[in-house]
Amino acid sequence: MDRLVQISSAEEILPRYRNSPIADLIGYHNFNKPFGVYNTASLLIGMCMDNRKQMRIPENFAFIIRAGGANLRYSEFKVSYAIAVGGIKAIALIGHNNCGMVNLVERKDNFISGLVEGAGWERDAAEEHFMQYAPQFEIGNEVDFTLSEAIRMRKRYPKIMVAPLLYKIEDGMLYHIRDSTLQPLIQKTPPEFQVTREPEISVRGYNYIVAFDII
Ligand SMILES: [Zn+2]
Repeated sequence: MDRLVQISSAEEILPRYRNSPIADLIGYHNFNKPFGVYNTASLLIGMCMDNRKQMRIPENFAFIIRAGGANLRYSEFKVSYAIAVGGIKAIALIGHNNCGMVNLVERKDNFISGLVEGAGWERDAAEEHFMQYAPQFEIGNEVDFTLSEAIRMRKRYPKIMVAPLLYKIEDGMLYHIRDSTLQPLIQKTPPEFQVTREPEISVRGYNYIVAFDII
């Protein structure tokens, strides 16, 4: 089954999100729904820092947290703020295909030489920096990760609507990610990285840490 649901009209928005800020976001972005007027934010958008993505949304419509891989694990206080003080009732988590936070180890040499040559770092410090942080920011697979984040956020903020979406770089459109296609939620740790927890599953030399319960 295709895990992504194309949304080119209001009828294709999944029923649970209709008449919500999630539906408004999809309408504005995907099919040029006329912009509403907002005095306060209706929505929090969590999306990747990647430069290839731009949302079509009205002013004041949303808080936006941009972080590599749409990974909000290290932005929790900001999420809580948007809910508690900003008053938002819905979160759109927007992963995207071809994300730079997938398979970081492939870019290790570029990362290190870029810091050395571009920023004036010592090679050892650059390598240590990569090895320390890459495991935290590696997302493994865009679709699985976005879903796992959505489930984590739903557990953390039970009264908040959380919608996992995928932005396709090729057409610039938002797609639903089917929740029912959830794969075992795992964090993939390449063997080069030191793991801080005992791996719970080991497959073909890769260690996997089970990050969440499947619900
Ligand atoms: Zn990305």
